[in-house]
Amino acid sequence: MKVVLPDGKIPKKWYNILPDLPEPVPPPLDPETNEPVSPEKLKRIFAEELVKQEMSSERYIEIPKELRELYSKVGRPTPLFRATNLERVLDTPARIYFKYEGATVTGSHKINTALAQAYYAKKQGIERLVTETGAGQWGTALSLAGALIGLKIRVYMARASYNQKPYRKTLMMVYGAEVFPSPSENTEVGRRYLREDPNHPGSLGIAISEAIEDVLKDDKARYSLGSVLNHVLMHQTVIGLEAKEQMKEFEDPDIIVGCVGGGSNFAGLAYPFVKDVLEGKNEYEFIAVEPKAAPTMTRGVYTYDYGDSAGLTPKIKMHTLGHEYYVPPIHAGGLRYHGLAPTLSILINHDIVKPVAYHQREVFEAAVLFAKVEGIVPAPESAHAVKAVIDKALEAKRKGKEVVILFNLSGHGLLDLKGYEDYLEGRLEDYEPQEIPVLRS
Ligand SMILES: *Cc1c(COP(=O)(O)O)cnc(C)c1O
Repeated sequence: MKVVLPDGKIPKKWYNILPDLPEPVPPPLDPETNEPVSPEKLKRIFAEELVKQEMSSERYIEIPKELRELYSKVGRPTPLFRATNLERVLDTPARIYFKYEGATVTGSHKINTALAQAYYAKKQGIERLVTETGAGQWGTALSLAGALIGLKIRVYMARASYNQKPYRKTLMMVYGAEVFPSPSENTEVGRRYLREDPNHPGSLGIAISEAIEDVLKDDKARYSLGSVLNHVLMHQTVIGLEAKEQMKEFEDPDIIVGCVGGGSNFAGLAYPFVKDVLEGKNEYEFIAVEPKAAPTMTRGVYTYDYGDSAGLTPKIKMHTLGHEYYVPPIHAGGLRYHGLAPTLSILINHDIVKPVAYHQREVFEAAVLFAKVEGIVPAPESAHAVKAVIDKALEAKRKGKEVVILFNLSGHGLLDLKGYEDYLEGRLEDYEPQEIPVLRS
């Protein structure tokens, strides 16, 4: 029914997909000059080792022993389950397996990169990491990483989420982080927005702007990002490397599925398998799932765009809806992002990964079915993957074909019950994709 690995099976290296991609990732551009950003400039924002990893051409990068011990402490290796009850209720010949990242102590995959980022910052003598958080999962993971490694953590959280998600805020504070509703009085950007409107609801874009301004004022501080960047996706490959080992106890999958906000949990599970496809050793169908309200992969344009909505970060080449695209307030807060990891963008361009999009009502319907038969309440983000898996299993039934499906259950939904309540009480809205602005390359 499930495979649990001992501590000794925590991967000793991360897999870096950069040298194996069918084409190189275009360099990030300085928004002021439109020239590639210098590593020196990046090192003022990110810890040095992370800038190195971001551009590394090494296929494998060693995971330091102290970090592997911390991975163990927070729940790695995570279990891999077979969803036999889901197979039965769908009456499908498909066999369904899932890697359960909700089993980490912060309840999602985000701790895998949070610990790595805090570890390298601490080693460099950095004292404080600053970040923003939307739904709160990333802020929670970084807060725990700071507590375990001995770094101060400051989190800017959009004021609307700060007020609506009191439990995630409390969790961050339990781990000792400073949490500010954004816009805040701490920064010039924040004060400017507060002058306009003292009750400004804030946004992820404003929170990023505040975090970066904060970091640039303190030489002992660095910025931390929870998705999109190459090094973040690489840290997440512990998921797929473990899953590969665990699937040896069962069988080789045919289809691999994950939900996508910036792309990190999907990449974490899929990239170690993508490697085999790029080397011509095996064939898999990869399905990346997004919400119809933020259809970056299915409707976005592949071009240079800012990573944040305020237009302060370097420009990166990716599938994007435009940095000013307004993502409606769906419950899958972790998927409300206008852009996409550059490496995943390239795999989609080469038809190696197939994107699909769903509305939130059908996603919650799938999540409730899953919870009833398997017991785990999926995070609304992860529920997108569950929906795609159910569709694939029903397709297998129609075709009378045995297939093996593996998906990433990126987190549990125990702090997202508001979304479930809205679904059960018929208050959930579907949002049609908005007009996508014309983007210039
Ligand atoms: C943040 C989050 C996501 C989306 O981010 P990715 O970088 O695309 O993985 C998905 N699931 C959960 C549970 C999250 O917390």
